[in-house]
Amino acid sequence: MTDDTPKSEVQAMSCEEVRDLLYLYLCDELEAEEKAAVESHLEGCEECRKALSEHQVLRGALPSGFINRKLFYYSKNA
Ligand SMILES: [Zn+2]
Repeated sequence: MTDDTPKSEVQAMSCEEVRDLLYLYLCDELEAEEKAAVESHLEGCEECRKALSEHQVLRGALPSGFINRKLFYYSKNA
């Protein structure tokens, strides 16, 4: 039995995963663990930092309700 797989505190994320979370990150909609993982990825990844600043620009242009995670959209429009 090998049931002692080591788990790091913050799991490394791929760029793809980080990109998916950037908008939520900007809106402070991430779980603490996800947020920490995104931040640690951004520290080491210039490409994703660029993507983040693009998101920051885009954020002002997106309609409210873009986020549907946690039923944010519905609670806002209920
Ligand atoms: Zn990246």
